[in-house]
Amino acid sequence: MIDLSARLHDLLCTRHCAMCGERLSSGEHALCSVCNACLPRTGYDASPADNDMAHMFWGRIPIERCGALFFYKGGSGASQLVYDLKYNDSPDTAEALGAMLATEYGAASFFDGIDVIVPVPLSRDRIRERGYNQSVEIARGISHVTGIAVDAGAVGRMHFESSQTHKQRWDRNDNVAHVFRTIHPERLSHRHILLVDDVATTGATLCACAQEIEKAGDVTFSILTLGFVKV
Ligand SMILES: [Zn+2]
Repeated sequence: MIDLSARLHDLLCTRHCAMCGERLSSGEHALCSVCNACLPRTGYDASPADNDMAHMFWGRIPIERCGALFFYKGGSGASQLVYDLKYNDSPDTAEALGAMLATEYGAASFFDGIDVIVPVPLSRDRIRERGYNQSVEIARGISHVTGIAVDAGAVGRMHFESSQTHKQRWDRNDNVAHVFRTIHPERLSHRHILLVDDVATTGATLCACAQEIEKAGDVTFSILTLGFVKV
């Protein structure tokens, strides 16, 4: 049966593939079927408790499961996609990719036992610049698929770090170590929290955020991102 409301929606606002720009058909979301097929998937949904991304967090935070939709490589179509999410006013694409991520990981019971989704916060200044936090939009897409609530207000981020782009790995840890503040620890204590970010590179930002949340007491984490930089 043809979904008339979906067809009407497509007619009223033509949608395009976030990677190649081709027009999307009504069954396609965010990516066309060609780009979707070419996405360099991590395959970590098959081993969410033990993979290269999870290893990055072992011994640093209490981590249960870890995954990313694709490997992130500079100059690739997938990296352009992440850039667009941040800087090209694409909250709908971020949400659609979050839903895609949740659909692919949901099949492997990734979300069992998770109580709440916490997107890695941006500072107010950054949100003012960009108009939205891409991690919140990704989290929203995950929530639509899983039914797990998003709490985007329990943790805050201050604006005194400099850009991470040109920093070395050991500098990055210091750079983000103290930027997060838990505003509502009572909403996070005794919870299994799904931390969500757009890309995991060294894990420094995710670790700093998790270590701050840990102060709420008795928390465990799982992590999902769109991209993962495998070194
Ligand atoms: Zn495409």
